[in-house]
Formats: sequence, C-alpha cells, structure tokens
Amino acid sequence: MTAPRDRNDSPAAVKPAILSVDDDPGVSRAVVRDLRRRYGEKYRIVRAQSGPDALDALREMKLRGQPVAILVADYRMPGMDGIQFLEQAMDLHPYARRVLLTAYADTDAAIDAINVVDLDHYLLKPWDPPEEKLYPVIDAQLEAWLCTEHRPITETKIVGHRWSARSSEVREFLARNQLPYRWYMSDEPEGARLLEAAGTDADHCPVVITAEGEALIEPTDAELATRVGLNTTPSKDFYDLIVIGGGPAGLGAAVYGASEGLRTVLVERTATGGQAGQSSRIENYLGFPDGVSGSQLADRARRQASKFGAEVITTRDVVGLEVRGAARTVRFADGDSLDAHTVIVATGVMYRRHPAPGIDDYTGRGVYYGSAMTEAARCANEDVYIVGGANSAGQAAVYLSRTSRSVTIVVRAPSLENSMSHYLIQQIENIDNITVRSCSEVTTVAGDDHLERITLRNNATDTEETVDAQWLFLFIGAAPGTEWLDGVVVRDERGYVVAGPDLAIDGGRPRGWPLERPPHHLETSVPGVFVAGDVHADSAKRVASAVGEGAMAVMLVHRYLAKP
Ligand SMILES: Cc1cc2nc3c(=O)[nH]c(=O)nc-3n(C[C@H](O)[C@H](O)[C@H](O)COP(=O)(O)OP(=O)(O)OC[C@H]3O[C@@H](n4cnc5c(N)ncnc54)[C@H](O)[C@@H]3O)c2cc1C
Repeated sequence: MTAPRDRNDSPAAVKPAILSVDDDPGVSRAVVRDLRRRYGEKYRIVRAQSGPDALDALREMKLRGQPVAILVADYRMPGMDGIQFLEQAMDLHPYARRVLLTAYADTDAAIDAINVVDLDHYLLKPWDPPEEKLYPVIDAQLEAWLCTEHRPITETKIVGHRWSARSSEVREFLARNQLPYRWYMSDEPEGARLLEAAGTDADHCPVVITAEGEALIEPTDAELATRVGLNTTPSKDFYDLIVIGGGPAGLGAAVYGASEGLRTVLVERTATGGQAGQSSRIENYLGFPDGVSGSQLADRARRQASKFGAEVITTRDVVGLEVRGAARTVRFADGDSLDAHTVIVATGVMYRRHPAPGIDDYTGRGVYYGSAMTEAARCANEDVYIVGGANSAGQAAVYLSRTSRSVTIVVRAPSLENSMSHYLIQQIENIDNITVRSCSEVTTVAGDDHLERITLRNNATDTEETVDAQWLFLFIGAAPGTEWLDGVVVRDERGYVVAGPDLAIDGGRPRGWPLERPPHHLETSVPGVFVAGDVHADSAKRVASAVGEGAMAVMLVHRYLAKP
C-alpha cells in the first residue's frame, strides 16, 4: 500500500494524514468511511490492513515530508498487534496522536498501552454513532496535534554527519544548483528517523531524500544531478560550439552563442556559476546598484542560456581536447566525447591547496575552500577564521560577520590595501566583530574528527600562537588547472591559456600555427579553439570582464565559421 501524493504537492497543498490500520476489512472500511466523511476535506485518510503495510506507508510519508496527524490502530491484528505497530510508528512520526481501537474485553491491554506507547486514547468498538463516540475523540486529538510541530517538509532533505567532507560537498552541490534543502544531522532524532525511513543507517551517509520522497544513499554528483532534474548528457553528437566551463565567461558565451543561432552546448564539471556562484554579494557588476548574490546571477544566466536554446550539461569533467580535421573533439573523464566546429575554453581558476600540514585531513570537516555561504548557518555564534586578502575573502568576512561571533581575516601582506577593493576594506573597517591579522599565516591545523585548533604565525614579530578554531575558510590564490590542455594549446608558465596577439613570436606567426591569417584576438594556438575569462592569460579576473570575453569569443567564433 502506498501513500498517494499529488505531483504538484506544495507545502500548502499537502494534507496531513490520518492513518487507520485494521486487519478486518469490514471494520477497516467502516473506520475509513466515517473518518473520510468528516475529515476528508482537510486530511488524507490512509487505510492499511496490517501493521507492516501501515509502517511502509508511514516510511514513505516520512521521506516525502508528509505530516501524520493521527494513527488509529486496531489492537488485535495477527503478526503485529496494534501496540507493537504504534511503538514502531512512534519512531517515525513522534508527533502523531495514537489511538487504539479495542473490544471491551481488551480494555486492560489498552490501559497497559498508555504507558508502553504513550497512548493518547483508546476507543471501544463499536463506535456508533460516530457523532457521539468517534468524532469528539478525533476532534480532541486533532486539536492537540495542531499545537505541535507538524509543518510539512517537502523540500529535498540531506542527512549526514556534522563533520563529513562528503556531506559538506553534497550540501554545496545542491546550494550551487539553487536547490533548496533541509539539513539533518544523523545523530539528531529527526535525522535518525529519516535514516530509518530510508532503510539505512548512519554508516551510509550522506542520504539525500528528494522532494518526491526518493532516498539516494551516498549518491555521486552525477546521480544527484540526474535525480534533481539537471541535464548530464548532451542530446546531439555534433555542435557548432562547445563551451567548457559554466562560470560567468562560459554562461556569457552560451547566452550569446545560442541567441545568435549557434547550436551550443555548455559543459560544466560541478555546478554552473563558477567562482562567482560562491560570492555572497557582487557589488561591482554593471546594472546591479544594490549588488547581487553570485548564485542569483548564475541562476538568471543559466535560465537565459536555456531560454535561447543552449544545452547546459553539469557534472561532466572535460579531460582532453583533440583536433580531428575540421572537428574539435572534447573528451570527458568517463571516456565519452563530443564534437563541434568550435570550442570556447572558459574553465576559470580553482583555489590552490593550502600547504599547511594537516589541511587536507580536515577539508570538509572544519576547513573549507570557499563555501562560506553554504556553511554560514552552521557557524552561527562561533569564531571564524578566513585566510586570504582578495575580494573573495573580504566578501566572505562581511557575510559571515552577520551571524558569527567573530571573524578573523588572516593575511600574509602588511594590509589589505593592495589586494582588496576599497569599498570592501571600508565595509570591513566598520564591522566591529571583524579583525584583520596582517603579516600572518596559518602554519598547522589540528583536531580530532574535525578541526579544533590552528596555529598562526606572525612573520613580522616572528611569533606563533595556537588558537581554538572550528571554522577555517580558505580564499587563497587561484590556479587555472589546465594540465589537460598540455601539448594541445599554448599556455604560459603558470598554466593560463595564451591567445591572439600574445601568441605571436617576435611579431610573426605562432609556432605550429597552420593558417595564413594570424589568430583572432581570443583564439588559442589551435584555430577554432577560443578562450574567455579567468583562464585567459593576463585577464582581469572580474565577473564583468569574464562575461565580456565570453560574448566577444562568440563574435570571433562567427568570424572563424565564416572563414576558418
Ligand atoms: C568568492 C568570490 C567572490 C568574488 N567576487 C567578485 C566580485 O564581487 N566582483 C567581481 O568582478 N569578481 C568577483 N570574483 C571573481 C569572479 O568571480 C571571477 O573573475 C569570475 O567568476 C571568472 O569567471 P570565469 O567564468 O572565467 O571562471 P570561473 O568562475 O572560475 O568558472 C569556471 C567554471 O569552469 C568549470 N570547469 C573548470 N574546469 C573544467 C573542466 N575541465 N570541465 C568542465 N568544467 C570545468 C568550473 O567548475 C567553473 O564552474 C569573485 C570570486 C570569488 C571566488
């Protein structure tokens, strides 16, 4: 038996359930008929014919976040009696009111049950007329239930360990894809109830329960993406344009490519938005005088790209690029490949690993690269350390200062002047609970199953101090991660992609360049392969310039397609 649910259930539309379980079909029908007559409009009356069936239905309702108001169980049932059923049902839906249906002869058992399962009422059979014997009881139970916590939780739920790197990654993944979720720790009562309903335990976390009530146990990003409705597979074999990377540059390229009629596919390793998607507030992007959060900007851009017909593929990592005649072939980590006339590399940059001993052991367990927005709620009223002196660190400090007890920015330079925008330095100066520790760096981190202490070294005074710290956010220098382009396109000594006039050697053609014409402005050393955004050597490392280069690269793609 299943608990039916409308496809478009919204919290407002979800009716709380009254579940009746009785093995006698005649009695069962009569209870449900009477309940439906009076409560059917506001409550979903669910009927089960055995304890195990009813528990299955309750598990399903638990996963779907459907509230259960009352359980009406017959005492005498074969296999699992009413008291045993209510005992197990309590573990899943502790707030549901419990009513036991008994014959007169079983009154003693019913009285005992008051203690065993914290029974709210026992109802003697028969209950005719219901107006006198059934409805007043159910009305009183509903009144009591309405005073308890019973809001339907229909959004996606994640159950995991507080200090688990993978749980943290899953939260970040959903947040970056703008999928609202509720987080439950596996050792809190509701977390344990959800694990039990999903048929698993704390050793198999994280568990993601979709809005439809499907439980995904230790899912990969690709599984998650598919289940939550994100596209992971291109629909065609050949495109006019493949854009690699879904940050501002890639999204800009996808919008302009698709809107100008190119068959365009954007391929993203994790979630669209790139670095900008991690920004709590971008205040210097044209057209947003009050600022815009990176995730909002990314969401709008992704919808805009899709509106124009660009395909946006997530959780696909590009690991190779090949030239096959006129086709440019992009290879994925899983061995698949995709062909196009042209490619725009917009893979941006990633945070460099922090070199302090122990950092890798605590990543996701107190140490986070970026992720300040996802973790903010968890470090409310706590002391937070941020490493980095650029705008990204400054934004995170301002954001976290609203809920944390204190925020300390650790920066190697003597001040923030040379690395952070003036407007952010001013904001930081005006926030009382932010401190800047200049000339400083984190040298070691330590703890048990999560971060508990960090050691800070002051290079100006040559001193070290170990402080208690559970939250360390790293916003340190970025690296382009373009090793997969090795031997294919020319990169500078730091791995950034060189393009256009910068490729020229002593004013002449780049080495190996096969065409008469010189490379177009954003064209790499491979004709038809362009670069845009932060991965471009000497680029401005700003949202606006990344979007601008994405748009401009598309203009050059058209030029290439017209005359390769
Ligand atoms: C926290 C933070 C705050 C910032 N605030 C501001 C600000 O206020 N104003 C401002 O102008 N700039 C800001 N910046 C900088 C700005 O976000 C970047 O300059 C901009 O995002 C660069 O865009 P991009 O598309 O070139 O690269 P990215 O944003 O880095 O995006 C690249 C994308 O490519 C994907 N990718 C990488 N390799 C592969 C691969 N092999 N296969 C598939 N996909 C891949 C990545 O997952 C990523 O999503 C901020 C940066 C950060 C981190």
